[in-house]
Amino acid sequence: MVGAEVVKGRGLGLSALAPRVVQSEIRAMTMESDRVGGVNLAQGVCDTEVPSVVAEAAKAAIDEGHNIYTRLDGIPRLRRAIAEKTERMQGLVVDPEREVLVTSGATGAFHAVALALFDPGDEVLLFEPFYGYHVGTLRSMRVVPVAVELEMGSWALDLDRVRAAITPKTRAIVVNTPSNPAGKVFTRAELEGLAEIAREHDLFILTDEIYEHFVYGEAKHISPAAIEGMRERTIIMSGYSKTFSVTGWRIGYVIADAKWLGAIGYFSDLLYVCAPAPFQHGVAAGIERLGRTFYAGLALEHESKREMLVGALRDAGLDPYVPDGAYYILASTAGLGDVLEGENAAQRARSLLKKTGVAAVAGSAFFRTGKGEDLLRFCFAKKDEDLEEACRRLRSLK
Ligand code: PLP
Repeated sequence: MVGAEVVKGRGLGLSALAPRVVQSEIRAMTMESDRVGGVNLAQGVCDTEVPSVVAEAAKAAIDEGHNIYTRLDGIPRLRRAIAEKTERMQGLVVDPEREVLVTSGATGAFHAVALALFDPGDEVLLFEPFYGYHVGTLRSMRVVPVAVELEMGSWALDLDRVRAAITPKTRAIVVNTPSNPAGKVFTRAELEGLAEIAREHDLFILTDEIYEHFVYGEAKHISPAAIEGMRERTIIMSGYSKTFSVTGWRIGYVIADAKWLGAIGYFSDLLYVCAPAPFQHGVAAGIERLGRTFYAGLALEHESKREMLVGALRDAGLDPYVPDGAYYILASTAGLGDVLEGENAAQRARSLLKKTGVAAVAGSAFFRTGKGEDLLRFCFAKKDEDLEEACRRLRSLK
């Protein structure tokens, strides 16, 4: 049209959030490790064996034609299996039709839950050291993560600190038990304390229980949903990436009151449509067929890997905080003097890789700016031969 003014928008460019995005230290160290042929204890890839019933059932599902979209909340068989195992292990009675949603990993679960429950500007408490994806996911939705410090080393929870962090904008508390990176397993007393606060301030509890089967010694996994009166306000997120060593399959789930689950399912559908169909069958077979012996064996196997790495870290002059659960060890570099070069944890992680060929992640990735700089995180969910090689290399540091 002659003379009509062309309306211009904001033009080409990134969103306000995008320039603040930094590559995760975990991925960065994985790339560095691959470049130099190192043993990668940086990423929680979990490259132990996939149970054969799980792998075989997934392969059979492909052959049998289970290759198309499933219902957005997952195949009935998998939802039933998840509900049954939750009752068997946690004593929670769950309706597989209305209270279980199969998701694209626990990561997809957290994303869909946050979209369904929070608005921009809402505040959500999480415990420091924290899992970076929780923080990043909330920020990506303009939700404000508020870190509440755990006692350094003992990882004890101070309920007064939780109370002090609550404002009128607080909507939820994120619990990760057993936790990444500290391996903290929340005790019943701690969860009861949190439950009281959640009820008093009318908050949700979001609980990421992806490491539920990785608990050692006397520690016992308890879901916050199992605390009396907490079912309605607790959203359980978990999955099979770690339990069945299938991080690439992307099978997770949410258990929540039907009041919330519809909206959570809506967002999960928008983001992922459904979880991969044949892998839903594989995981369902695993849950149905593997019993207590499997889970007890998994914990024992990882407990012995933990011992192996703790010993090597000590011999290397690093000071490990021995975890009660999950499969990471935070270790202090403070006693090493100038054996490792660098001013901060990221530089020291690179110096360790250069000197030993073992990749770890800078502890600072799990804390607010300026903290965790004397820590490195090591993952021990590795095949024994790789872990042994990593331990041999670490011992050469001294
Ligand atoms: N939640 C925590 C605490 C994790 O440490 C991880 C992986 O490292 C995940 C979730 C990812 O789980 P998924 O593979 O099911 O997305």
